[in-house]
Amino acid sequence: MIKINSLSVEYKEFDVITDNKNPIIYFNYIQENNCDFLNKATLLINNHEIDVTNKVFYKYEFNDLKELSTYELKLKIISNDNLIDEKTIVFSTGLMNKGFNGEWISDPTYIFKEKKVSPKPLLFLKTLNLRKKLVSARLFITSIGIYKVKINDKLVGEDYFAPGFTSYKHNLQYQVYDCLNFLNVDQNDIKVIVAGGWAVGSFGFTRKNRISAKKQALLCDLHLEFEDGTKEIISSDETWKVSHITPFIEADLYDGEVFDGRFENKYKFNFAKKENIGLNPKLRATYGSLVKEHEVLKPTLINQIGNKYIFDFGQNFAGIINIKVKNADGNEEILIKHAEILNKSKDLNTAFLRSAKARIIYYPPKGDSTYQPTFTYMGFGYISLEGIDISKVEIKGIALYSDIKPIGDFKCSNPLINRLQKNIIWSLKSNFMDIPTDCPQRDERMGWTGDINVFISTALYNFECTRFIDKWLQDLKVEQKRSGGIPNTIPSQGFGFPETMPTVACEFWGDAVINVPYNLYLVTENIDFLNNYYPSMEKYFKACRWWANFLSFGENKYIWKSINLIHFGDWVAPDIDKMSSWQARHPYTATASLKVSASSLANISKILLNEDKEKYYLDYSKHVSKAFEDILLDNNGKISKNTEFQTGYVLPLYFDMLSNKKDKVIDNLVNLIKKNDYKIYTGFPGTPYILFSLFDNNHREDAIKMLLNEKCPSWLYEVKVGGTTIWERWNGLDENGECSIKEDGTGGMISYNHYASGAVGAFLYQRIAGIEPIVPGYKYFRIKPFYSKYFTNIDTYTVSIYGKISLKYQIENNKIDIEIEVPFLSKCEFYLPNGEVKILEGGKYHFLENVNL
Ligand code: BGC
Repeated sequence: MIKINSLSVEYKEFDVITDNKNPIIYFNYIQENNCDFLNKATLLINNHEIDVTNKVFYKYEFNDLKELSTYELKLKIISNDNLIDEKTIVFSTGLMNKGFNGEWISDPTYIFKEKKVSPKPLLFLKTLNLRKKLVSARLFITSIGIYKVKINDKLVGEDYFAPGFTSYKHNLQYQVYDCLNFLNVDQNDIKVIVAGGWAVGSFGFTRKNRISAKKQALLCDLHLEFEDGTKEIISSDETWKVSHITPFIEADLYDGEVFDGRFENKYKFNFAKKENIGLNPKLRATYGSLVKEHEVLKPTLINQIGNKYIFDFGQNFAGIINIKVKNADGNEEILIKHAEILNKSKDLNTAFLRSAKARIIYYPPKGDSTYQPTFTYMGFGYISLEGIDISKVEIKGIALYSDIKPIGDFKCSNPLINRLQKNIIWSLKSNFMDIPTDCPQRDERMGWTGDINVFISTALYNFECTRFIDKWLQDLKVEQKRSGGIPNTIPSQGFGFPETMPTVACEFWGDAVINVPYNLYLVTENIDFLNNYYPSMEKYFKACRWWANFLSFGENKYIWKSINLIHFGDWVAPDIDKMSSWQARHPYTATASLKVSASSLANISKILLNEDKEKYYLDYSKHVSKAFEDILLDNNGKISKNTEFQTGYVLPLYFDMLSNKKDKVIDNLVNLIKKNDYKIYTGFPGTPYILFSLFDNNHREDAIKMLLNEKCPSWLYEVKVGGTTIWERWNGLDENGECSIKEDGTGGMISYNHYASGAVGAFLYQRIAGIEPIVPGYKYFRIKPFYSKYFTNIDTYTVSIYGKISLKYQIENNKIDIEIEVPFLSKCEFYLPNGEVKILEGGKYHFLENVNL
């Protein structure tokens, strides 16, 4: 029998509210026996019957979904044995084009002029006497700034930092909360507290504030339906009251909170006034993945320095603490500081947080209380506690990250590699904070395009995060410059460079506009990701081409070389500790980027059936490859000036740019690596690909030696010296687990939670386990494990749109025991240790073979 495994709308299985009139529906199956098949599958929705036999997704094509409605979606299947299975989910539509009834309101008495800090949170209050019994109550709400709602002092919703981080000029999400169980028949207090967040608060390393608007504002509609059949909408308007005196003395994403738990009711209310927010964003029900609470971590007390206690959470992560205070006398000032690392005297080392104060100050009321920050988060593994006796407090850590779903894991016989995989996952979680960020701790936490560009493939093996990524991409699309350049951070949110230089395109960072949607297409099979972003991709390519051509002649037109300042080059390459030296390598990284953009566009044009464009991009990519080989490599396939420049060899190999010098380049790379004792010296652009460029060019053992190398710089060095996340700089801690880095001219750019070099995760799945799509969506895929003495067992899986793909094997006494799962409706090309290839249809398989490794 075939059973329905999952059914989702807009990539979500429950609580779906969408303003998309053509939502996408995914479904997949589990088969009880390998020979089971489907006779018929039908989707039933809104009086339509849609035949979806042998499909796994369907885009709702009728333009008949109405606003503020609830729909039942049923999948009904009949399998070969005539057995029926059904699954139903319910989803709702939001306001669609209807718009809000309410008006934007703010506090007319609050003048916020200070620089480099965040504004005081504003508390909006509406008192409501309903007098009638409700049958439905839904709050539609958004803000400029980030908000939390309380009805009758109970928190509504579990989201953090709503309405989320978008390019506020263009896009703004609103949320819909079911409030029925919060409201009484008579007196009700609706309180919405709005802090500065990304829109008004201080943001970015320049600590600019009021980037999107001059102060916070609120917009909401509370839709009520009564038992007697009447309806009413209570909206934000000038009957609401507002106070900028609240228990939140400070609330800032980087600096933390100062919270007065003794506040009681000292608000100073005025009537709210209509506010011109000065923006006209498109309002849509949440289409990304808001931040929620996840793991709870218990810290251990590890040190006491005078009256200061140091706690260790055993894990670096992004989130907040929760502190329970017993028996306070009401005069305490509790100070909690956060840090990723300790110094030699086992005190917090906060040197690299730069201007981020990363602290909370809590004034507990007399007696017992609990406090947990609302409008901030930190990247930390340690805290210090001061201002109260330790016997009076209980502390835990709460990991915060976007609501994404784990769909993969990689385990093998090497415990250090297993820890590396965990570190990759923790860095992903810590940086999937409404948008994909670079780091969660210092005064940055921005949507750097280059970081997600190199990491996207790894991310998609481990998490279902389509909504999360697509929301960010939609901002990237609208923020693209007229010239085609992409701001280096998305949302750019006041970050000047290259906003002030509208023609700038930056290799590998801007490439996100091509590579990220393409990767989404690869896993979802949803061609919309190509159609929607194709014009932006082409526009970006044109900008890159323009820069390459600028003041160049002949073959040099295909070499992208310009002033260092506007490139990131071999960013954070560890053989050179100077930004300008990383940037100076840009002719290699930028030219490789030009080639990969052209060949990706050729590939995408082909999928979109545009033959002329396909041909153009293909030809262009060939010219670039040839120019790279002719101009950037000498006759011996060498990069003459930069002797340790691994990335310079990796990129042309990985991106298939070489012909007559290929063998020489392979030799040069291998010799360089051997000379370096298998240490890695690549920056952002080379790190994801170095192992592939060895492994796929007949140097498998060398690739594995580099992966398993434990000397600094290497992936396992970080693990060996105690890293629990992926670092920005390989030498973050010395052999004793201590930080011996002094300011090195990079402006304190040492983060211990930066996923970019965790991009090696894709290599674990694709070459060690050998799981890779052959056609998009994994309808046809490969499992070609690297059977070797290095990995005597593998236990890994990833969930495709067709279902779970898994590989497990164990090698013992020259026998290998292999278990494989192939999802129903997909096909797998499976490679046995003796080289034999089996084509497996959906089902579970077991092989017992002889091996000689
Ligand atoms: C960020 C990076 C980012 C880079 C680009 C850094 O400060 O943390 O991850 O991509 O700047 O220059």
